[in-house]
Amino acid sequence: MPDCYCGSFLSFEKCCEPYLKNLKLATTAETLMRSRYSAFATGAADYLVSTTHSSQRKFHTKAAILEWSKSNHWIKLEVLAKTETNVTFKAYYLDSELKEQIHHEHSTFVFENKSWFYVDGEFFQ
Ligand SMILES: [Zn+2]
Repeated sequence: MPDCYCGSFLSFEKCCEPYLKNLKLATTAETLMRSRYSAFATGAADYLVSTTHSSQRKFHTKAAILEWSKSNHWIKLEVLAKTETNVTFKAYYLDSELKEQIHHEHSTFVFENKSWFYVDGEFFQ
């Protein structure tokens, strides 16, 4: 069984898949962030929309998320730092021209109605 997309040493079935299928709720910001990376890797756009905070959804349409998810090939995730509400990470991917890219972000999450949501991020070059 290959390791989960998010880089844990668990299988996808035991790690992020239950979140993507709405069978489990992420209990920490980091878990949500990891599951969202796996959602990008597998094109789970509905999950990405539903875990984006309601105040931000207008900036992230499902079509745009799906396009971004599918036009890149997601290689790996590296979580660099985390607090209760923030996660800093690097997502490695190949873009549509198969060039290696690194998406480096400091994300903010909020806990509301028993769920964690992605609010926004600060991006680094
Ligand atoms: Zn995972």
